[in-house]
Amino acid sequence: MLHVETFIVGELQTNCYCVSDSQSRVAFIIDPGDDASYIAQKIAGESLKPKAVLATHGHFDHVLSAFELQHIFTIPFYIHQNDEFLLQAMKKTAEYYLAAPVIEFPPTPSKTLQKNASLSLGPYRFEIMETPGHTAGSVCFYCKKEHICFTGDTVFEGGAVGDWHHGYSDKQALLASVRTILSLPPETLVYPGHGNQTTVASEREYLLKPDI
Ligand SMILES: [Zn+2]
Ligand SMILES: [Zn+2]
Repeated sequence: MLHVETFIVGELQTNCYCVSDSQSRVAFIIDPGDDASYIAQKIAGESLKPKAVLATHGHFDHVLSAFELQHIFTIPFYIHQNDEFLLQAMKKTAEYYLAAPVIEFPPTPSKTLQKNASLSLGPYRFEIMETPGHTAGSVCFYCKKEHICFTGDTVFEGGAVGDWHHGYSDKQALLASVRTILSLPPETLVYPGHGNQTTVASEREYLLKPDI
């Protein structure tokens, strides 16, 4: 069975997820947006074996503590290559939004993610779904067998979708990505980058209107 634990981290209350295989105890750390030592402590306390740090996209509130966790556990960091440019801007953007000095280093991608690739966690497989729009390299991590999907800042509980006000965002691409997520089986649990978890069925109710 897969176990999902949520750590709400940082000023922007980002959901950092630790998804683990309860048998082998291997785990992925998804979107560590801050508080590396808190996350590391929880993970070590549960005797989990992190295998990689994954980012749904490159915004600082999803990757701020990735570098530190990479080094604490000596594990790789994966992101879509279209969002690598955001890592270079991480420090500056974080300082702008947080209005405070930021000492963290940006993570070093060990592997870039792409469509049709998959990541294995024990006997489970996570498909990489390319869901651009909020950022060009936004992805979702989808485990068909366990009906769970980590959606980053593309879909949120209650019919909200990611913002597209950044110069590099693309509203049409975002709406197409939202439709891709809504085409997953209705029982799929959706774990968004902020806020509560939801299901594809309940988001369909909110979002499948003629104007979207
Ligand atoms: Zn974002
Ligand atoms: Zn975010």
